[in-house]
Amino acid sequence: MTTAKARKAFQERKRQVEAARILGMQSGENVAALTPELVRKHLFSLLDAPDIAERGLPGCVITEFKRCGRARCRCARGLLHGPYYYWYGRIFGTTWKHYLKREGAPRIIALCQLRRERRMTRQRLRASLRFLKAQWRYLDTLTGRDS
Ligand SMILES: [Zn+2]
Repeated sequence: MTTAKARKAFQERKRQVEAARILGMQSGENVAALTPELVRKHLFSLLDAPDIAERGLPGCVITEFKRCGRARCRCARGLLHGPYYYWYGRIFGTTWKHYLKREGAPRIIALCQLRRERRMTRQRLRASLRFLKAQWRYLDTLTGRDS
């Protein structure tokens, strides 16, 4: 395998592992066979997962305003219907857009927010770790160690 090919395979594998983690799949499950149907099935089972309040949800909640098309309706004058809430996102090339009842939307909004915050924290920690490792290497060059 060429280096480029190997790198591509590695990236693909990384994407699969990430998708599996987000979807809460078991390590034994075949991630490589993740079809859009399977992605959606796992996604929607997340909504009832017992630990979802700690993990949060991928994606975000969007709102839309709509015209119903009736000529005499207020929406024909620009007073659109809505807002309508949708749980929306993209994982592993699969997009989803799932209608939410108005009373159910705040919970999903909070769960998506939670996951976003946790992911940002992870990214910050990773950046700190990278920085510390670079410092470590630098100190090693000063002291003449080469590890
Ligand atoms: Zn209307």
